[in-house]
Amino acid sequence: SFKTIHLILNMEVDERYKILFEPVKIGPVVAPNRFYQVPHCNGMGYRDVTSMAALRAIKAEGGWGVVCTEQVEIHHTSEITPYIELRIWDDKDLPVLSRITNAVHTHGALAGIELAYNGMNGPNLYSREVPLGPSDLPTATFSNDPVQARAMTKRDITNLRRWHRNAALRSKAAGFDIVYVYGAHGLGAPQHFLSRRYNQRTDEYGGSLKNRARLLIELIEDTKEAVGDTCAVACRIGVDELIGEEGIHREEMLELFNEIGELPDLWDLTLCSWDIDSRTSRFGEEGHQEPFVTGFKQLTTKPVVGVGRFTSPDAMVSQIRRGVLDLIGAARPSIADPFLPKKIAEDRLEDIRECIGCNICVSGDMTMSPIRCTQNPTMGEEWRKGWHPEKIHTKGKSQSVLIVGGGPSGLECARALGRRGYQVTLAEKNKELGGRVAQESRLPGLAAWSRVLDYRLGQIRQMENVDTYLGSDVTVEDILEFGSEHVVLATGSSWRNDGVGRHHLIPQKFPEGKTYTPDDIFAGRLPSGKVVIYDDDHYYLGGVIAELCQKNGCEVTLVTPAAVVSSWTVHTLEQEIIEADLLKKGIRILTRHVVQPGNNSTPESELYSVHIYTKETSILDCDALVLVTARLPNSELETGMEKVRNSWADAGVKSLTRIGDALAPATIAAAVYSGHRYARELDEEIDPDAVPFERELTEIAPEPDWKTFWQE
Ligand code: SF4
Repeated sequence: SFKTIHLILNMEVDERYKILFEPVKIGPVVAPNRFYQVPHCNGMGYRDVTSMAALRAIKAEGGWGVVCTEQVEIHHTSEITPYIELRIWDDKDLPVLSRITNAVHTHGALAGIELAYNGMNGPNLYSREVPLGPSDLPTATFSNDPVQARAMTKRDITNLRRWHRNAALRSKAAGFDIVYVYGAHGLGAPQHFLSRRYNQRTDEYGGSLKNRARLLIELIEDTKEAVGDTCAVACRIGVDELIGEEGIHREEMLELFNEIGELPDLWDLTLCSWDIDSRTSRFGEEGHQEPFVTGFKQLTTKPVVGVGRFTSPDAMVSQIRRGVLDLIGAARPSIADPFLPKKIAEDRLEDIRECIGCNICVSGDMTMSPIRCTQNPTMGEEWRKGWHPEKIHTKGKSQSVLIVGGGPSGLECARALGRRGYQVTLAEKNKELGGRVAQESRLPGLAAWSRVLDYRLGQIRQMENVDTYLGSDVTVEDILEFGSEHVVLATGSSWRNDGVGRHHLIPQKFPEGKTYTPDDIFAGRLPSGKVVIYDDDHYYLGGVIAELCQKNGCEVTLVTPAAVVSSWTVHTLEQEIIEADLLKKGIRILTRHVVQPGNNSTPESELYSVHIYTKETSILDCDALVLVTARLPNSELETGMEKVRNSWADAGVKSLTRIGDALAPATIAAAVYSGHRYARELDEEIDPDAVPFERELTEIAPEPDWKTFWQE
């Protein structure tokens, strides 16, 4: 129906932002505006097809003029199991891919497909084929698989070109408008060939830049020849690895652009590898790629797209007016707010749910689980739960809800319940809203996290049916007196000071007066002198507090039982960056060690580090110990309410529910989701025995005749 995009085109857009809604010709197709959802993974791929198609459809509905797939494996000789992407191995994959193009076209957007031959980045754990690369080298995978790639022969290269061409033809048959050649993020074979580090060939595919670019050029030309009559051919290319001349670097790529700038119909510029392109806000400002991508557009007449975690329309306009980009590429901003373009068109900037740059979305792909987002709790749930980011059903039979606690779960719960039309009272014991989000966003590098609060506060302020009370330390008596039908406890959690975490499961007796927790830090009670951070939480907080203490002049040692610092952040693409940053700041790191107090045979006034395997023990010379280990839900109000359950009916209280960290401490994303889920499900019939979402099962093959199947 092309409904959405045409509505936007006819809309009176603010003069300043009109340029963002201009159509852009890309080869034989025309993007209806400059909002371009670049290819991004989602952890769903071939396993959760309709979920993923729905996700893309929502982006198109939200006004993105181009909506692309994630990387799509073109051949079984290059697959990246265990990661779950799309596949276009043969015609069997076409129904899956057509489902995406149908979904995207429904709202008038162009559909793009990123064809990927990962080569030496694909360990082929599923197909058991030998990976192919430019040279005989170990595969370049996240998990250092004990697999080497084989140097491709000329025949292999001919085969690869045919496989890519076939995939392009299938893409066209599936209805795609833009077909990619992918050589970026350290993930595509054309990039491995371009790289002098990986390409050690001595034939016409190795050596000079022209030779190393030969495969890339051939793939672009093949694709244009195969489908270029009706499809635009895009090239996604990494322009700098930030490792100097040994790696792919800007000067060399500018030289290449001078030669082949006119070859594809569109250039999609990235940094490589993926972690430096998709930097978290802790390590990269909005638009941090600009110094590297600037100048390429001037070497081609073809449109150029690039990313920068742009959420501000002024920043987007500036990119275009200053000649950096033609199209505003986005993965994360389109995840946090699929309706970002539409909100700009409708002059509803205050309604934009800005990405906070935390990379929880990336963790879906890295853990092979459906994408999730801290800011957008509906992300990944569009089909399986029927959740729409901008629509919510009107309220059920109940009238009123009291929410105790204004952290991320309480705020989201209030916002979503308010949208449904309930009379909502939000009581927060502190003088400010935000809970852990407000506290943590004051720590080094986490300022952007306050957007979780900013968005919700902005929304709640527009609602007459949501009342907020600050400085309200709600008691059991208050709840009974208030008489709301439903009571939601979003009271958060408290960090433990007894060392219990993943390693110590029994509380430890640390020397009195020496220990601190993150809650002390949030309250402004900071340690001094020689400080040990004991991180058995393994996400970001231990490292961030180490950085804070170091900034405050402390001599800091970070001790963790894990093999690396902040080990879970490998899933948010930060781990190596965090560890390098802490080391550069002079923070001492002691991995595979636990901190424990003295026992019967050692003085109790001392602290010890113990190697988790050898049990070798050393005294830790420190003035303070910060324990970042685990949290306990703040459940006192629930306990108190349970004691007076007999009084609930008289007070009009029908239910009491804990949500977010008050139920089970986890990520901010989990807290927001928890608040949103409560709001969605209030007054709904929920069958506790039923799976609470739709599932899509892989088609099973016809049943073999088991008696004869393996006979000779
Ligand atoms: Fe942005 Fe975080 Fe959402 Fe990803 S998960 S889109 S980084 S807010």
